[in-house]
Amino acid sequence: MAVSAYDPENIFAKILRGEIPCKKVFENEWALAFHDIGSKAPVHVLVIPKKPYVSFVDFSARASEDEITGFTRTVGHVATALGLDEPGYRLISNVGPDSGQEVPHFHVHLLGGRRLGALVS
Ligand code: 5GP
Repeated sequence: MAVSAYDPENIFAKILRGEIPCKKVFENEWALAFHDIGSKAPVHVLVIPKKPYVSFVDFSARASEDEITGFTRTVGHVATALGLDEPGYRLISNVGPDSGQEVPHFHVHLLGGRRLGALVS
């Protein structure tokens, strides 16, 4: 899949720069985690890398091993800190138009807090 150029005016870039507020859950050198504005579950948190990647395709191709490890461990840490490990949660990342990706800055959705329904609609 072709990766389009990163748009520094996307909404998550503005959140990272502090130009738009967010309800922050956690932040470290690798990632920022915040509540989704259109929550689809009792817990719906977005985790985004600090550096500019359009989607998972871009992140997996260009991020350093330290970034990939740091980001992945941060997602796990946030899920644990939110108390989601038991009875579980859903981790989703939309990639490109067919997935419905709205914001062109790589992010994972952490969804939990209730029994979730079908994955694909
Ligand atoms: P996508 O469809 O790109 O995978 O998910 C983008 C998510 O970002 C959506 O769930 C949407 O509710 C959320 N979102 C869009 N704009 C904002 C915003 O300004 N603040 C926050 N916290 N979430 C946003």
